[in-house]
Amino acid sequence: MTKNIRSFVDPMTFVRFIHVDATMLPPETWKKYDALTDADFRAYFLENKFEFVDMDVEVHELAHYWQGVAFPYIHWYAFMSLKIISEAIGALANASSDYKQWSCQIPSLRRISQKQAIQINNLNAFGEDGIRFEITELELLECYTSLIQWQIITETSAFDAATFRRWLKRNPSYHSAYDVCCKVVKSEEIAIRLFLPLVRAAFRTSRPVESFGLLLSYMNLDSSFFSTFIAQQEPCRWDELFSHILTREVDLPDANMGDFDTAQNGLLDNALGLTFGSSKLGHPILTPDTKRWLQEKESNEGFDGFLSSPRFATERNSRIHIQEIYPPSTIIRIHSPNRSRNIFMTRGVNAPSLDAHDYGEQIHSFLVFNGVIRRAAGLSLGSRLCSHQSCQHYRANFCNGYHLAPEDPKDCKFPLFLSNTIEQMNYQLSGTPKTPMLREESSWLKKNAGLLSKFLRGLRRMN
Ligand SMILES: [Zn+2]
Repeated sequence: MTKNIRSFVDPMTFVRFIHVDATMLPPETWKKYDALTDADFRAYFLENKFEFVDMDVEVHELAHYWQGVAFPYIHWYAFMSLKIISEAIGALANASSDYKQWSCQIPSLRRISQKQAIQINNLNAFGEDGIRFEITELELLECYTSLIQWQIITETSAFDAATFRRWLKRNPSYHSAYDVCCKVVKSEEIAIRLFLPLVRAAFRTSRPVESFGLLLSYMNLDSSFFSTFIAQQEPCRWDELFSHILTREVDLPDANMGDFDTAQNGLLDNALGLTFGSSKLGHPILTPDTKRWLQEKESNEGFDGFLSSPRFATERNSRIHIQEIYPPSTIIRIHSPNRSRNIFMTRGVNAPSLDAHDYGEQIHSFLVFNGVIRRAAGLSLGSRLCSHQSCQHYRANFCNGYHLAPEDPKDCKFPLFLSNTIEQMNYQLSGTPKTPMLREESSWLKKNAGLLSKFLRGLRRMN
């Protein structure tokens, strides 16, 4: 039985969503939860996190967060998604002021969940036909997450492939990409050793699935080099090996970061330093942690090795990843028969803090935009944050990213929030507001209008 119905890290904003089934909580916790105010709940949650979040969910979503912080492709994807979504909002708002009419096609945003076919030919064991497989970038990420999650939590050897296989069967988890790897190297014992560094290396490029296949094609047991390499004891220098293949053997060029849909595969070594345009503005959630992560990597040899083989990391490097490279913003939705509600939590940008105010609202606009555009583009949506089925906005579900669901649906500020934010955005960009004043005072918009417009202008300069 699990407390967590559904959890995920949004791949654009990198806000973490955790859905808790209150009926699965210990009765005292549930009772306490019903009585607490939001602010008191936040404080209580910080001290008693594991009363609400299953340990495996915690580690799983943490691993997704590390991917946004430290995988160049995912970091780049988050930037590009923000840019694409902000542009789409602008274009749709110009076309119609009624958001319920909005509809668009954004193939770029489907990219991570689209099957890509890969053929590996030069593996003698597979004969002339080689091996062909179809996977998505998301499956690669999920398989990586499953393995690192298991390695962090399990008490057996990190390379006990049989135990990992049993765990995969018992837990709902992706294993398609791992299975491909096992098939190519013809050994689960070898696959489990190289899989994490292999996926990390693939996400250093602009075509992760293609690179995954490319790197796998070098894992040829008939080659004496590879046989000698795997005969060594762990920890082996997998990261160096894959880096050597990408830069020396394949000699990938630098990827063109202005073009998300570029056909050519390339290296994304500068992606972790991305800012919007020539501004210093980075990704609102990821950039501070990415800076921290890069600084550590620079000064502390082996720091990033945690993401390839967590079991061989020093205690300090593990602690920094697990406690400090930690999702700064989380929306917890507690589903309780008495009182379902959403609670926005933040650890602050650089230090643990629960002061969600301005920062929280900035993230809030991007979550709302994200939800609206995903709905307009027919992309998969996050889970419901509202249970007012009788509300006039519920069915259309453009509000799927809006977490401030009121007690009474009549009080819902979603449409107002959306139109105010768009209006302010147009005003800041063009200097000519459609109406001179916001329809309702929003202290946050007033205070942050400068930041928002700088951010949006930066977005436009990215290409
Ligand atoms: Zn996942």
